[in-house]
Formats: sequence, structure tokens, C-alpha cells
Amino acid sequence: MRIAQLAPPWITVPPAGYGGTEWVVQQLCDGLTARGHDVRLYATGDSHTAAQLCSLFPREMPDKIGVTPFEARHTAFAFADMEQGEFDLVHDHSGFIAVAFSRYLATPMVHTIHCPFDELGYGFYEQFARDVGYICISEYQRSMAPPGMDWAGRAYNAIEVDQWPFTSDKDDYLLAFGRVCEAKGFHHSIETARRLGRRLIMAGVLQAPYRKYFREMVEPHIDGDQIVYEGEVTMERKRELFANAGAFLFPITWPEPFGLVMIEAMACGTPVVAMRQGSVPEVVDDGLTGFVVDPEDLDAFVSAVDKVDQIDPAACRRVVEERFTVERMVADYEAIYRRYLER
Ligand code: UDP
Repeated sequence: MRIAQLAPPWITVPPAGYGGTEWVVQQLCDGLTARGHDVRLYATGDSHTAAQLCSLFPREMPDKIGVTPFEARHTAFAFADMEQGEFDLVHDHSGFIAVAFSRYLATPMVHTIHCPFDELGYGFYEQFARDVGYICISEYQRSMAPPGMDWAGRAYNAIEVDQWPFTSDKDDYLLAFGRVCEAKGFHHSIETARRLGRRLIMAGVLQAPYRKYFREMVEPHIDGDQIVYEGEVTMERKRELFANAGAFLFPITWPEPFGLVMIEAMACGTPVVAMRQGSVPEVVDDGLTGFVVDPEDLDAFVSAVDKVDQIDPAACRRVVEERFTVERMVADYEAIYRRYLER
């Protein structure tokens, strides 16, 4: 197949730091190319891909995430090029603009909904459901859509398992990792570590909209000893942190659409303790790869963290190898593309 992949315009593919969607796009482009498809990727010029790269903007601009004129220019550039390209299919991962205008493109389009299916998305996706084949990244996401809305399919996100070091010999710290914001529950992780008298290492990017949260809910508790915040870390440090942690804490307060960090932890043999929100029960098997507790039940969360030694690290790794590999994700997408084109 000749496939155009449209990434968001803000972050390099693959990302140097934060970027869940961009990891998925990178793995998909490389995987589809390896399977013999002819893939063109529209992404920033500093991206690296086995596909053919086509760019308007030379470099990533993480400080402009969500700024519409950049998304509009990137999409208009890609659409103009797609008109020449004679693709069989366009696969869009960007924001809203490509979906809204896909009916003016001669090529069929599928779109992975990478964000949560919230109130704003509800009406938007429903309006364009006849024009685009939507792909969800969890059953939870599918369940949040307007009733009767068609889906082209579901493809869980994935990681290159071999890139994540496995160890069953853990250090004593607990880990909180991701975008530092209320949705990811960093304040709950801090409270958990304090109640258990355990060390907590936090790491992850602090984006502009969440500075107030950080100042009020996180920063006052950092003491550089029991409660540590390392900021945005290198890929190497990230993998080390995930591998050596006694547990990965995920006390989220939002409906996580997938949550790559959970499978990153599990691949390293690190159990996940999470609150039951969004996709969590589809990713973490309660009692096997970690514990899943009721949302906002911090007492239950703390107790679960305290018994995390019961979880076998090898089982965590095995589940990722069985369910969340790149090979599986690429095969799922390929099957979805074929079904969509034959509909
Ligand atoms: N990530 C990172 N550095 C950071 C924050 C996040 O490398 O400072 C990575 C994280 O390891 C994961 C991705 O970015 O691979 C975030 O995806 P996820 O689905 O966990 O959450 P999102 O932030 O997209 O809601």
C-alpha cells in the first residue's frame, strides 16, 4: 500500500523526550516500511524515519503545542502534497484540522484518536464520522463515543520491548513519571510515599499550563531526599528509573486513553499501581502486573503499593511481550487499513 502518515507538527518523530503519539507514529512508519509498504511521513524536518520524510517546519516546537496556525499550515502543506501523491490511504495522527477537511481529499483517511474522548471531542468526531475511519487506542475510548458511531478498529499502543531493560532486582524507591500535571496524580504519589515513609523519584516535563499545579501541589514537598524531582530526563535515565523502581505509581485523575508509561514500567518488570480510570483495567491486570484501585481511593492505593512485592516482575514483562509489542500494533493497523479500504 502507499500510505501517508500525518504526525502532529509540534514534536520530532521519534520524540527526544515527551511524546506518546510521536513514538507510535515512528514505530508504525518503520514497521509498515519493513513490511514492504510505501510510506511517506509528514512531520518536522528533524524527524528520523525509515519512511520518506516530508516537512514544512524544519524543527520541533514543543512550546507551540496546540497553537492552531501551526497545525493548519502543516496540514495544508501535507494535503497539497497528498493531492500529488496517489496514496491508497492517509493515516492522520494530528489534531482536528485534517479530520474536519478530509472530505475534500481524494484519498480515504483513517484517524487515530490519541486524546481522551471528552465533551469537546464528542460532537466533533460525531460530525465527521462519515468522512473518516476512526481508530481507538482502548476499549474505554470506544465506549465514550456517541452511540452508533462507526469505528474502523482498535489498535493498542506499543513499545519496542527490547529497548526496555528488565530486572527483578529493584531499588527501594517508588517512581512517578510523565507530564507533571494533576491528571497524572503526582500529588497522590507524593502523599503515598509520605504515608509509607518510602522514597519517591518523580521525573517528567513541566509544561506551561501546569506550572501553577507544580508550584502549589508538588514543589513544596520536594526535599531532594525522600521526595525528589529530576525534571525532564534523558532516554537513558528514563529507562534506568523505570527498571530499578520498586513500583510505578499511576494514581491518575483523568480518563487515560492508553498510558504508554504503564507498559514501559511493565516491560522493565516493574509493577504498576494505578487508579481505575480510562484504559487502566485493559492494560494492568489486577494482581498479576500490579494493582488497580478505585479512583480517588488513596487509602486503597497506599495499601496496594505496600503489597507490591507480591507481583512477579517476570509476569509484567511477559504481558508486554504478549500484548503490547510493535509487531502486534503494526499488524493491527495493517488489518484495519485493509478492512477500511475494502468496506
Ligand atoms: N515521556 C518522556 N518524558 C517526559 C514525559 C513523558 O519521555 O518528560 C514519555 C513517556 O515515557 C511516554 C510518553 O512520553 O512514552 C507519554 O505517553 P503517555 O501515553 O504515557 O501519556 P500522555 O502524556 O501522552 O498523556
